[in-house]
Amino acid sequence: MTERTMNGGPMSEHRDNSAPASPLEAGLVDELRRFAAHETVLIALDFDGTLAPEVDVPDEARALPAAVGQLAALQQSPGVTIAFVSGRSLGSLDVVVPSSVTAAMIGSHGLELRIAPGDEVPAVDAADRARVEALHSALAPLVDAVEGAWIEHKPAGFAVHTRVVATDAAGALQTAVREAAAALDAALTVRDGKNVVEFAVRDATKGDGLRALRARLQPDAVLFAGDDVTDEDALAVLEPGDLGIKVGEASTVAPWRVSSPQQLVLALAAIAEARQRA
Ligand SMILES: [Mg+2]
Repeated sequence: MTERTMNGGPMSEHRDNSAPASPLEAGLVDELRRFAAHETVLIALDFDGTLAPEVDVPDEARALPAAVGQLAALQQSPGVTIAFVSGRSLGSLDVVVPSSVTAAMIGSHGLELRIAPGDEVPAVDAADRARVEALHSALAPLVDAVEGAWIEHKPAGFAVHTRVVATDAAGALQTAVREAAAALDAALTVRDGKNVVEFAVRDATKGDGLRALRARLQPDAVLFAGDDVTDEDALAVLEPGDLGIKVGEASTVAPWRVSSPQQLVLALAAIAEARQRA
């Protein structure tokens, strides 16, 4: 089995909604204007911690109003496509993204892709779905036998949750489901989290999702901005002429950085202004 550590969760250090953003560095403003001058551009953005300040209840996350305003202005410009690229499922993204912005969506770290409403690339094919069902049939009786344990369905698999299970029983169940899964399907991706073990028949990254979106839309240039470890996969697939921006202080492959979602708004505003002037 492939072992992965779960990351990209909703917790991080960005919490201050009110701090005024300091101006962008001059070199980044120049890069944003260069980017804005392309005829067709894809502006692909992580959501949590990038457009929306981090919150404790994932469904309560909302993009900064100023960011929504800039995205609404940008989508009026012909040739601009906006995309949200998230670890959230598409269903979870639908709860939190602004309804006033029409965006392509990459969900579940690249597993799910919605180019436009009604134009979705399925996360799994029929063969993969059969693997998920076989695994579910094998593990469900083990989970059902433990008080408080439950199964969450995911786009390419499912997660076994043990948060409200007694510690000893939780450990025993996690061991049992891992062993049963390994015996049934050696090609599974298994992710361990806190009180959860997740099984998936397909693995993807935000980089895979961004590549698929680029292949479909064929923009002249791509901007990607994100704050988390999983965003590095998307930043890593940017090409010459694209623009990668890290949000926050963490280490990154991105050539440019903003300090916060508030400062990212200034970057979006610079693109919108440049396109309005053109
Ligand atoms: Mg994020």
